[in-house]
Amino acid sequence: MSNGLPENDLLGKRAVVIGGSIAGMLAARVLSDFFVEVIIIEKDKMTDQHLTRTGVPQGSHGHALLKSGEEILNDLFPGIVEELIEAGSVKSDFASELAWNHHGSWKVKYQAGMSIIQQSRPFLESHIQRRLKQIPNISFIYETKAKKLLLNTDQLQIDGIMIQKEEKMDQEIKADLVIDAAGAGSQTSSWLKQLGYQAPAKTEVKVDLFYASRIYRSLSSEKKDWSSLLVYPNPPSQNRGGGIFPIENQRWMVTLLGYGVDSPPNSGDEFLKYASSLEKLDVYDAIKEGQPETDVAIYRFPALRRFHFEKLSHFPNRLLVMGDAFCRMDPVFGQGMSISALEAVALKNELQKAVQKNGLTQISIQTHRCFSKIIDIPWLIALTEDFRFTNTVGKKPAGLPFLMWYVKKVILACETNEAVYGKLINVLQLKAHPFTLFSPATLKAVLFQPRS
Ligand SMILES: Cc1cc2nc3c(=O)[nH]c(=O)nc-3n(C[C@H](O)[C@H](O)[C@H](O)COP(=O)(O)OP(=O)(O)OC[C@H]3O[C@@H](n4cnc5c(N)ncnc54)[C@H](O)[C@@H]3O)c2cc1C
Repeated sequence: MSNGLPENDLLGKRAVVIGGSIAGMLAARVLSDFFVEVIIIEKDKMTDQHLTRTGVPQGSHGHALLKSGEEILNDLFPGIVEELIEAGSVKSDFASELAWNHHGSWKVKYQAGMSIIQQSRPFLESHIQRRLKQIPNISFIYETKAKKLLLNTDQLQIDGIMIQKEEKMDQEIKADLVIDAAGAGSQTSSWLKQLGYQAPAKTEVKVDLFYASRIYRSLSSEKKDWSSLLVYPNPPSQNRGGGIFPIENQRWMVTLLGYGVDSPPNSGDEFLKYASSLEKLDVYDAIKEGQPETDVAIYRFPALRRFHFEKLSHFPNRLLVMGDAFCRMDPVFGQGMSISALEAVALKNELQKAVQKNGLTQISIQTHRCFSKIIDIPWLIALTEDFRFTNTVGKKPAGLPFLMWYVKKVILACETNEAVYGKLINVLQLKAHPFTLFSPATLKAVLFQPRS
């Protein structure tokens, strides 16, 4: 036994993770079962406050945790969902407590039997961090940047990274496996080039999206028939949307968004004016007499971006890239954290195979292929909607016109048909494959829906 782990299940002495955010922390949890020691290198300061930090500016904006992500989180950290609820996360039924206007149509409300939990992103992150710190073989090194990758003598595999803490000298950390979970700012592509390797191809789809968010202490009225409200844009004619979501400490996260809109609302007045310009006035009505607690935070999201690490035939082994460093999804679909969770499960499976078979000899190529397959589905879901906006530019998925036509019919059927809505919820929560929307019963309900 070493560090409480059976020797036979160990794949090495040390794994290093770059980035201590959602993807990095979930990866570290998985790695802790296979390595004597796991070190997370994080450039931000340590914080156990529920505050947005510099390295994760998106933390000031609405962050939905999909059911798939919630379930994996609870498997990795048993009991964490109950802990979150006790500490203030708001649990609600997805279909009966969410008022959702989608392409101009309100969805039917019914007991879907699928609950979700809602909270701010920093709150969620701090709870995961707290659980991680209880695992003895995981440690964090804060205020330290990963600066480059180190190759072993035969130049075929990564055997560590160079780090720099504040103004101090660079320092080498040796590792048997390195995971880049540094998010949008990942430098793996340029590091690979420095080492004489090819950078991966990337696919970008420009959406020119912005988020503008504010936390409210109270809304206009306590009387409302929803726990969450979502007014999705109605493209191509309406490219603006917004939503209100409950978060910890009886507060509300209000997020407004726009695709291809020139200037986001920067002040309180502009925020209200923008809310009043949505196709439905429900968000505006709910906040016009509300009490904001924070200023308006803006986030610009120019493009979805996907690297194709899985296609590189020449890639240094023992290096993995995951989370937003691998693929940045359109945040409107709330998929990013849950994709990281699905990738953590894939990582665990690949490490288990490595224990049973050849150790880490093929780990990078095999795991990147799994990650890429995970990404395919949410990528298709997001692009089917994003290409409805006239400003969207990029490579279109195969069969897009048909998908857009059929999915719009599915969306409109959800106004009255609970079964179809139930299927759509499962797909959007990344719990079912989009093929399930083409089952005979769903096809019949969607294609022969009564016209209102
Ligand atoms: C506006 C917006 C809204 C979103 N809404 C949702 C949502 O509703 N639901 C959802 O699931 N997802 C959402 N996402 C996506 C979600 O934030 C990410 O997918 C999720 O955080 C996983 O990202 P990550 O851990 O890969 O990277 P990040 O969360 O970006 O974290 C990267 C980490 O790496 C650190 N780092 C960076 N470079 C270095 C370095 N060189 N050395 C050391 N540390 C480094 C950073 O400080 C940071 O801690 C949203 C994103 C945006 C932009």
